[in-house]
Amino acid sequence: MIEVLTPREVPLGGPRAMKVRRTLPHKDRSLIGAWCFADHYGPERSRMDVAPHPHTGLQTVSWLFSGEIEHRDSIGSHAMVRPGELNLMTAGQGISHSEVSTPEDDILHGMQLWVVLPAVSRFVAPAFEHYVPEPVTAPGLTGRVFLGTALGETSPVATYTPLLGAEIVLDAGARVTLEIDRTFEHGIIVDQGDVALKSGPDWHELHAAELGYLEPGHGELHLHNSTQDAVRFLLLGGPPLGEQIVMWWNFVGRSHEDVAEYRAAYEAENGQFGTVDGYPGPRLHAPELPNARLRPRG
Ligand code: MN
Repeated sequence: MIEVLTPREVPLGGPRAMKVRRTLPHKDRSLIGAWCFADHYGPERSRMDVAPHPHTGLQTVSWLFSGEIEHRDSIGSHAMVRPGELNLMTAGQGISHSEVSTPEDDILHGMQLWVVLPAVSRFVAPAFEHYVPEPVTAPGLTGRVFLGTALGETSPVATYTPLLGAEIVLDAGARVTLEIDRTFEHGIIVDQGDVALKSGPDWHELHAAELGYLEPGHGELHLHNSTQDAVRFLLLGGPPLGEQIVMWWNFVGRSHEDVAEYRAAYEAENGQFGTVDGYPGPRLHAPELPNARLRPRG
């Protein structure tokens, strides 16, 4: 059974806010494996300017199709995020970062994804990694495997739970079968174009920015691009996390109290989140916590 999650439009922070299309978390689904957040943006001539802000208990995955984003963080990383290159930031116990698109190439187009760190690893030291996967071609497709294993390629980037993250471009008219891990649940997030996904006897058409979810138990993924144009999508996967999380603003914890503590520590500048050098402006402030208790989900 394929579950189709349609995106909602959310304004991203900043004075010239850009709109993103969010499919995770969704009212019908919080997680795919440890993947807990998926924003799709562009292509558009817009500027991303997200001032320093904190994270805990997660990893951020930046994946661009075009444009360029300058990343700065509180452990001293300063990196350019470019198309086809994985930038993986591990927040663990706490990190701050800023993200600013550069004017050199102002068509911004990509995905921002988060991965939950499992309970046993959620307080690891913050880190930043960069990896450029070699494109791999097979009949009807080109892929870039940035996390985990697909298309006979394995990313060398270590993860805290088994994960799959790959960009796949299906040629016009292509009909392909991909081998997938039966213990994983999977999600396909379409960038541009349409693609049909098969489950049992039924084909399900996915459109731009939609997410198609496939539960565990499938060893093959059948895809068909019946259009005259190539279609690009991200294939995400992982075994069901099996943990309840509390996610609010930029924090992932396990309880309302965890999140309240992170928020207080960030606002008090107690050192847990460090400082970001080189960003021309003030950091973001955390919004007020809601009056109701934050509820776990997953
Ligand atoms: Mn962030």
